[in-house]
Amino acid sequence: MNPSRPSRRRFIRLVVLGAAAAPIVAALPRSARAAELPHLEESDTLAAALGYRHVATEVDAARYPAYKPGQSCANCKQAQAAQADGWLPCALFPGKSVSPKGWCGAWLAKA
Ligand code: SF4
Repeated sequence: MNPSRPSRRRFIRLVVLGAAAAPIVAALPRSARAAELPHLEESDTLAAALGYRHVATEVDAARYPAYKPGQSCANCKQAQAAQADGWLPCALFPGKSVSPKGWCGAWLAKA
């Protein structure tokens, strides 16, 4: 008996199963394929400390003079590719997503 046969059969079975499952997975809505990160709350301790707001135009400009109109999470270097709901994972808030219209004091221009 060839000892490599069982693993070869197993490999072929996995390839066939994977090929059969691919169209099913592709047909699922994106939200069913990958869990989306929960939205960051403005009341989150770090968010509040950085003046995060879901809508940048609501930023207290007197308290955060670094804020300039036009700046938002959507054009911040810390933001990553948008989820299906449009919210963005942010390097500063692991495990959370931020509003594309949001802003916080750690905003950095994309290069
Ligand atoms: Fe938004 Fe950038 Fe602040 Fe993250 S670091 S919350 S993307 S402004």
